[in-house]
Amino acid sequence: MNILVVVVDALRVDRVGSYGGRSVTPTIDELAADGTIFENAYSTTNATDPALTSLQTGQYPRTHGVLNHGSHVSEMEKKRVEDTSTLPSVLNKRGFATGAFGRPLGRWHRRGFDRYPELTSAHWRLKSLEKAVSDILYSVHPSIGDVISGVYNSLTDRTGSDDENEIVEAFDSFLEDADRFYSLVHLMDTHTPYDVDENLVERYLERFEYENTPLTEIAERFPTGSITYNSLQPGGVVNQNNDQWRGHEVGIGTALARAQYDAAATEADRKIDSLLSVLRDRGMLEETLVLIVADHGESLGEHDIYFEHHGLYEATVRVPLIVRPPFDAVDRVSELVNITDIAPTVLDVLDDSKGSPTEFDADGRSLLPLLEGSDSDDTWDSREAILLEEANTQRFRGIRTQNWKYLRAVGDPACRYCERPHGAAEQLYDLTTDPNETENLVEDRSEQAAKLRAQLEELLSRYTHSENDPNASDNRRVEYDDEEEVLDRLESLGYR
Ligand SMILES: [Zn+2]
Repeated sequence: MNILVVVVDALRVDRVGSYGGRSVTPTIDELAADGTIFENAYSTTNATDPALTSLQTGQYPRTHGVLNHGSHVSEMEKKRVEDTSTLPSVLNKRGFATGAFGRPLGRWHRRGFDRYPELTSAHWRLKSLEKAVSDILYSVHPSIGDVISGVYNSLTDRTGSDDENEIVEAFDSFLEDADRFYSLVHLMDTHTPYDVDENLVERYLERFEYENTPLTEIAERFPTGSITYNSLQPGGVVNQNNDQWRGHEVGIGTALARAQYDAAATEADRKIDSLLSVLRDRGMLEETLVLIVADHGESLGEHDIYFEHHGLYEATVRVPLIVRPPFDAVDRVSELVNITDIAPTVLDVLDDSKGSPTEFDADGRSLLPLLEGSDSDDTWDSREAILLEEANTQRFRGIRTQNWKYLRAVGDPACRYCERPHGAAEQLYDLTTDPNETENLVEDRSEQAAKLRAQLEELLSRYTHSENDPNASDNRRVEYDDEEEVLDRLESLGYR
């Protein structure tokens, strides 16, 4: 059996048709019809580095050690994660060919992979050069920026198909000599800046209703010069370096940005279709366990978070999770699950003997009993709560139970990017009646809040890394050859 895990960065549940969302993801929906849809799946955090590490280790960030993202990851965090076993390492030792594709994040994520892509592909280098040049020229005069973008657009295919070809060709050649494989594909389409087929955006603007507020008007809600303020200016999060949108009646606003996000979801879906076609053509699809998941969601304006993943609200931490095993599985599961369950599930499905794999110390649990449903020999004990911890934006912690969400600020509740808080220092939401988390019940339901506060404390003490005292650790430094390159790239994506 083979394993293909596709991580669609920042993909929201409500953009996946099989979750009742807009039908902009036909391939994922088709796969879901053949597999299991996890309706209540969560990330462990709001940022890629800790989330992807949770996926690969089956552990919460505080267990595997990486709580932050990008340049905020400390020496201490790197040391902790060095000692953690990862799914690709375990499978590689078992004789699986292991390959990562797309835009992976290098450093410790690389561990256990036989094949890892160039971090800066030709396509990516050209794109970041174009963005850097046009950003500078826009600041001189917008029309010069347009000229440069026009030249770039005429030289390259804006639909992102060169990016797609690169991924698909690499995947195909990897399969050439793989008897059995574990593959992780990381797609960045739905992460800003959206680099999408503008004709598709145009079609979605006609097809769907989008609320439209100019981005510069929204920017005024944030302190001038804050990261968020800047990202909402021309040349920021939205792909505005394109003549088509200058003077277009839609204007540079939330409608355009959301239509670009939807188009980006479709482009990620097309890439998944191409990957599945490669497997089908090689006769390997039926013997492959396929998982589609996101590392975190994306806020498209909820809680005044625009095209970003700050906070621990549902828009940011709830993720699609679709599992298509090579056997008959139940259609839908409403149990609370999270991305720490993925690695134990893969190992359990592979293991002939059932039970928790001993070589892997996961916080998560195998989802196999849920996939098999009433046919399973094992039972799934419903999970009471999921621990959520925010990476380097405003540092909230919280829990999600079947019906409630409780959030608490670690220190200053102000978001580092927005330079203002997205909510009170303590928040309680009844998700059964208020799924959009608009009414903070922390005062009105103080008993419920106290219960969840205690439950959060219990989870925080249950999941603790053994090496938590910075003074007790040795002085070794963890160096990654690709760290500078990765951090440069993350900065170009807006991470500071
Ligand atoms: Zn924010």
